Amino acid sequence: MTDSYGRNIDYIRISITDRCNLRCVYCMPEEGVEPVSHDEILSFDEIIRLTEIFASVGIKKVKLTGGEPLVRKGAVELIKKLKEIQGIEQVTITTNGICLTETMKGLAEAGIDGINLSLDTLNPEAFEKISRRTCFDKVMEGFEEALKYPEIPLKINCVPMGIEGQNVLELAELARKYPVHVRYIEMMPIGLGRQFICKTEDEILSELEEHYGKYEVYSQKLGNGPGHYYQFEGFKGKIGFISAMSHKFCDSCNRVRITAQGYLKTCLQYDVGSDLRRLMRGAASDEEIREAICDAISRKPLSHQFTEAFTEHREEHMMSQIGG
Ligand code: SAM
Ligand code: SF4
Repeated sequence: MTDSYGRNIDYIRISITDRCNLRCVYCMPEEGVEPVSHDEILSFDEIIRLTEIFASVGIKKVKLTGGEPLVRKGAVELIKKLKEIQGIEQVTITTNGICLTETMKGLAEAGIDGINLSLDTLNPEAFEKISRRTCFDKVMEGFEEALKYPEIPLKINCVPMGIEGQNVLELAELARKYPVHVRYIEMMPIGLGRQFICKTEDEILSELEEHYGKYEVYSQKLGNGPGHYYQFEGFKGKIGFISAMSHKFCDSCNRVRITAQGYLKTCLQYDVGSDLRRLMRGAASDEEIREAICDAISRKPLSHQFTEAFTEHREEHMMSQIGG
């Protein structure tokens, strides 16, 4: 469906858990977030029902997120079922990679259409500083495992925070050596992200150019999102940027989100949307839920205002609760 600004909304990010096995400094506090009880989180049946309704209003692509989606038991079975929903053309996942070694085979069998691996650094010490955990080797093992499935597109997502030991060139090397796209995501001032001032796209591009030489803009579309890409000579994969701050892309936003507790969010920055869990658990019919979804999408904000000091309805949750 299109929203009131004519944007075609065909992509949904579904958070299937608010729990995580890392504590990235820009995403989750050291002590974690108050875990919500099992009953408060959407059940798989509820997620499937909602996805069917979303598919009926034109959603075609689903990304599972979290927290860490692979810590939720049964995530692979859920993917299998989502893939069977009429109208859903793609189911992908974003993960920190810790559980990939064990789940990659299952994900492939379930028919996953793509994996985003969040990996901010190749330096084990910097990894520990950022994630407050010592599982760098496990993540790299997961990366190696994912490489064994070249038919499943793999993207590496890095938030370049400029923390000591985080070297953006090292990550770019992955796109040179392997058929994976490496994307730099500008930090968004949401939750703990507000505390950091990070490297911008222009700064990183000049570093890359200085090291690897000239690049070309890659003008074809890659993936479902707002990333734009560059091709460096001799690279197997592309270098991408998702620059919500310096290259705002709200005018082409195609997405909505569902939190683990079933709240439909129509813009990352605002708390506006619709409590679909309340509707479902209040025995609303599919038609009533569909109407609530269409109404919320018709009120999707025009754009974020990350650079404004104060905005009404500003999102106050942590990114791990929203799903990124
Ligand atoms: N745990 C999974 C993962 O790390 O991919 C899924 C959830 S995580 C919230 C999704 C993505 O959001 C990650 O790539 C993470 O780096 C990114 N992220 C978290 N906080 C952010 C922020 N303030 N600005 C930009 N990206 C952020
Ligand atoms: Fe967990 Fe992903 Fe947030 Fe890191 S970015 S704390 S892995 S949810």
